[in-house]
Amino acid sequence: MTTTDLHNPADGSHLATIALLDAEAVDDAVDRARTAQRAWARLAPVARGEGLRAFATVVRAHVEELAALEVANSGHPVGQARWEAGHVADVLTYYAAAPERLFGRQIPVAGGLDMTFAEPIGVVGVITPWNFPMTIASWGFAPALAAGNAVLLKPAEWTPLTTIRLGELAAEAGLPDGLLQVLPGKGSVVGERMVTHPGVGKVVFTGSTETGARVMAAAAPTVTNVTLELGGKSANVVFADSDLERAAATAPYGVFDNAGQDCCARSRILVEESAYERFMELLEPAVAGVRVGDPADDATEMGPLVSRPHWEKVASYVPDDAPVAFRGAAPDGPGNWFPPTVLTPSSRTDRAVVEEIFGPVVTVQRFRDEADAIALANATAYGLSGSIWTRDLSRALRVARAVEAGNLSVNSHSSVRYATPFGGFKQSGIGRELGPDAPFAFTETKNVFVHVDEDPAPEESA
Ligand code: ADP
Repeated sequence: MTTTDLHNPADGSHLATIALLDAEAVDDAVDRARTAQRAWARLAPVARGEGLRAFATVVRAHVEELAALEVANSGHPVGQARWEAGHVADVLTYYAAAPERLFGRQIPVAGGLDMTFAEPIGVVGVITPWNFPMTIASWGFAPALAAGNAVLLKPAEWTPLTTIRLGELAAEAGLPDGLLQVLPGKGSVVGERMVTHPGVGKVVFTGSTETGARVMAAAAPTVTNVTLELGGKSANVVFADSDLERAAATAPYGVFDNAGQDCCARSRILVEESAYERFMELLEPAVAGVRVGDPADDATEMGPLVSRPHWEKVASYVPDDAPVAFRGAAPDGPGNWFPPTVLTPSSRTDRAVVEEIFGPVVTVQRFRDEADAIALANATAYGLSGSIWTRDLSRALRVARAVEAGNLSVNSHSSVRYATPFGGFKQSGIGRELGPDAPFAFTETKNVFVHVDEDPAPEESA
């Protein structure tokens, strides 16, 4: 049997050895999932809702345990990891109401009655990345289960521990055997088999744009439906009329949260020329103030990078001659530590400006006016999120409408709320997760027309 060794990113110590499944295990899982799904879909909607509420309750009771696992496996600061585990319970609770709200429509037509049904797709594959293992998994499995599907869930190779535990908690909560199966394995083996298996009707993939494009191509021969949540290179646009103190104080957290390993990271700060010097003066102490250290410490705001190979990739964007404006602190010693880093490249096509770094590295650029700000913000293949700082409401709305991205916030860096839709424009993805409509992304619309005989004696009934 193939195995993989997991290491604690904060100190490099050995954490666990995990068995990796093979393609045949996926085939067996699809068969079991199909059987479980048929029974699940036949349940009364209220019973499916109760199942999800029970799952939420069990997750809520294990927040501390799940958070500690994520600290050890992913190096997330414990406060953040607690939020992530609680968010899984919130997402389950939110979608527990969905089975009773999977409304169809009645459409006026001639000659009868026309109605639509939101039918479950069947077996859904959810493939998750290593940056937010728990939360991203729940964005897939909660609405998919609510809509009457079974779910096969493949965690990323580096960070499977909390996902494996969530699978156990689902069973403990009484979800039917086979309905939610966690399948740890390699992307090229388990992931690929999930995408190409004819019994899997939909795949939700979150990860890099490169792998997402491969998943989309692999899904084509079986015409498998995909939702893709991919990379980002989001802009934080700071106008001179904004509250510059707040814009500068919050900018580090808009990009360095989760050590920058966040597809929504505002990794390009764009500042109006007339405010640039002042903004940089304010940004420097804000960056120095980010508390980087032991993820198990409650006061820590930023932990280590997830793995050594990823550290190497991030470090490649900060060579010795990099245009470093200033850097924050990071611990010495073992662990994948990388300090918050601010770069000021002179070229708008610098590699650090164009490519997704997925680490605590941000570039700062100047813009001339509103049109230049919009052009710069859109000068990327990605389109996931972004922030706009201004006190001018009309400008905030004009710029928000002009930026080609799925999730924008004005005078804040908020991207993800379970009640609102999340997803990307351009090469940041296809489809949306979360929000009230997410369960419908796991259904097929069925239209049924019922012929109604004409009234044989219309005069009498008139
Ligand atoms: P990263 O998030 O490190 O950029 P990827 O985008 O490659 O990595 O991986 C995201 C998820 O996709 C992981 O669970 C990974 O195992 C999986 N994966 C990788 N390659 C494939 C593939 N060819 N088919 C399906 N899933 C894959």
